[in-house]
Amino acid sequence: MAQIFISHSKQDKDIIHFFLEAFAGTKVKPHLEELENEPPTGITANKIENDIQTSNAVFVLLSENVEHLKHTRDWIVWECGIGKNKDIWIFEPSEQLGKIRVVVPHFNHYVLFERTEDWRKYLRSLIASYDDSHVLPTLSASTAGGALLNEKDRGSGAAIGFAVGLVGLLLHNMSKPSFGIDVRCWKCSSNYKIHNYGKFRCGVCNDISFLQPSQILDYNNSVI
Ligand SMILES: [Zn+2]
Repeated sequence: MAQIFISHSKQDKDIIHFFLEAFAGTKVKPHLEELENEPPTGITANKIENDIQTSNAVFVLLSENVEHLKHTRDWIVWECGIGKNKDIWIFEPSEQLGKIRVVVPHFNHYVLFERTEDWRKYLRSLIASYDDSHVLPTLSASTAGGALLNEKDRGSGAAIGFAVGLVGLLLHNMSKPSFGIDVRCWKCSSNYKIHNYGKFRCGVCNDISFLQPSQILDYNNSVI
């Protein structure tokens, strides 16, 4: 079962509740990890590293509570370093824009969200895009196909089965909906995706920028 690792503050009960509602009905499991813990050492570090590696993505739920936590910065930077081969999502409540200054050197998505029904649906669809439960049967079915061949053809049959499995994976990836708008921060040149127009904070350099739809058109025109 697909899993998403979620860093959060236990003080943000409303935010956690909102995200857990978005997970409900999907085949993706949330793995909650509290930011209140000190930067991990020893067995704890190993366990968290393993939890991140077995997850399909990492969600970091920033808030004013997280902003004031003593060890937050080291903790988030460490987790995002461990998860650098995963999709890393930074979430901030829109009403707290400008009040959060936590910076993360690397992430893929910055989402300024509101706790509304529309946002809950949007979160649910992006969470569901990590569901891999329909890919695994394709792989096992193709492997079973190889096993039906006689002894002489078994080698090539297995190869064909494996190829079919790969095609299944590729199709799955191609059909995965694309979320967000590609942006590059004018100040620090970091690339990532944001998920709405208007003001947003660069989670790398803390600069506040503004994006409107016409800027996307201008960019496309200049490329052509
Ligand atoms: Zn920046």
